[in-house]
Amino acid sequence: MDARVLLRHVLKCTAARLAGWPEQRLSAREWEDYRALVERRVAGEPVAYLVGEREFFGRNFMVTPAVLIPRPDTELLVELALAHFSGEPRLRLLDMGTGSGALAVTLALELEGADVTALDRSREALWVAMANAAKLGASVSFVQSDWFSGLGEERFQLIVANPPYIAAADPHLEEGDLRFEPRTALAAGPAGLDDLAEIIAGTPHHLEPGGWLFLEHGYDQAMSVRSLLADAGFAAITSWKDLGGIERVSGGRWLGRA
Ligand code: GLN
Repeated sequence: MDARVLLRHVLKCTAARLAGWPEQRLSAREWEDYRALVERRVAGEPVAYLVGEREFFGRNFMVTPAVLIPRPDTELLVELALAHFSGEPRLRLLDMGTGSGALAVTLALELEGADVTALDRSREALWVAMANAAKLGASVSFVQSDWFSGLGEERFQLIVANPPYIAAADPHLEEGDLRFEPRTALAAGPAGLDDLAEIIAGTPHHLEPGGWLFLEHGYDQAMSVRSLLADAGFAAITSWKDLGGIERVSGGRWLGRA
């Protein structure tokens, strides 16, 4: 399957064309390009980086090694945001650690009239996110910010994040695609909870009363995240399962003042 995706990328053709015209001969140049991509794939580079894009929620996002490759798991965050906020006029929404912009751009396009802000610490990631917003026709305000540092006093009705949440010593970081993705987008301290904890502690100062926080987290972190949310004073604390039946997103509602 990877070979076919790479070949389609070199020939700039559809799957149907590839299947329907298998006797097509490659030019010397095409063959060279294809071999080079196959060699990089064999050495482990993710297909998404080789072809420069990955689909998320039905749209193609440009990706580079400066950003995490969007995962289907994260579509759960989109669905939760839509379920809670569809039809809300002038929704003020913040995506923290936007990376490729997959979440911010998707939500800006799916929630009509929403006022979407997306932040990232990485300038390279912000370039990718901005390119995706422009390509897909989404209006998003981008801010370079190390979590809350560049945010000012703004408050939002919804904050979402897919932060780094893998334990620094997790052997998966040395396997498969993860080896090629930005470590800063993946690893978060000894238990993988450092960034989740920092976000949870800071969001009360950036949520309107009644606003929601939704966070993606690791397969075994739901209980820890719920207890961090409880410690910070969130209400209506809930975890939601992804398509694999794993608690993948937890969130809560901010009712008080901070
Ligand atoms: N879900 C990703 C993985 O386990 C990690 C993404 C993240 O750290 N936010 O491969």
